[in-house]
Amino acid sequence: MTKRYVRVKTNNESVYYGLLQPNRSVTVLDAPPWLNGQLTDLDLDADSYQILAPCVPSKIVAVGKNYVKHAAEMGSNAPKEPLLFLKPNTAIIPDGSGIRYPKNSQRVDYEGELAVVIGDRCYQQNIEQASKAIWGYTIANDVTARDLQRKDGQWTRAKGFDTFCPLGPWIIRELSSEAKLETFLNSETEPRQSALITEMTFSPEFLVSYVSEIMTLMPGDIILTGTPQGIGAMQKGDRVTVEIEGIGSLSNYVEIT
Ligand code: MG
Repeated sequence: MTKRYVRVKTNNESVYYGLLQPNRSVTVLDAPPWLNGQLTDLDLDADSYQILAPCVPSKIVAVGKNYVKHAAEMGSNAPKEPLLFLKPNTAIIPDGSGIRYPKNSQRVDYEGELAVVIGDRCYQQNIEQASKAIWGYTIANDVTARDLQRKDGQWTRAKGFDTFCPLGPWIIRELSSEAKLETFLNSETEPRQSALITEMTFSPEFLVSYVSEIMTLMPGDIILTGTPQGIGAMQKGDRVTVEIEGIGSLSNYVEIT
C-alpha cells in the first residue's frame, strides 16, 4: 500500500509526524519525513489523535490559471508564464475542519488543486534539480472570495482569509502523471470539477524550478498547482470534497455562522 505521511495531535496535545497504518494507527516519526525523520517505537491508536494539515509551510506559493479550460471560464487565455500569488500559512486547516464565510463576501468558491510538498531547500534550480526537490503530493482547496478577487484586482485578501486553505489529509511520495482530480459538492455524484493533472499548462517540476528563480523554497513549503475548470460557489453548510486519484480525498464544510 502507498505510504501515507501524516501530522497528528494527540489527545494530550503532543504533535507528531507519522506514518498512517491501514488500521488507522499512526507510527510516530522523530522528525518531519523530508528532514529524514525515522520511525520510532511509539504507536498511536486510531482514537488517540486528530489529524492536522500534513506539513507546516513557511509559505504557500499558488499558481493561477494553470489549466487552459479554467482560464477560459475566467474569460482569459492561459498565461504565457506561470501567474504566481501567495497564500498565508495561517489560511491552512486540516481535513474535516470548517471554512469560515467572510462577512464582507457574497461569493466564496472552491478550487480543488494538487499540492506539491517541497523536501529540500531549493533556490535557482533547473527542472531536473527541481524534480528532486519535490518530496511528495497532497490535496488542497484554494478557497477564494471571488467577488473580492474581482474588486481588488490583486488577490491577497480574496485568497488569504483564515481557513481558506484546506490541506491534506496526508502526503504520498509518488503520483501517477495521469491522476484524475475531482471536486464534489455535498452528496452530488457528478463532480463539479474533473480533470487529469496532465491537463496542467506548467508541470509541477517546471513550477518548482520557476518559483525557485524568485524565492528560496524551504522544506515543507507548498506549491498549489492551479485549479481546473468547473469552479463554483459554496453556501454556508455545504460540504466540499476534493479527490485526487492515488492520494485520497480532502473534505471540509462551510461553517453556518
Ligand atoms: Mg487556485
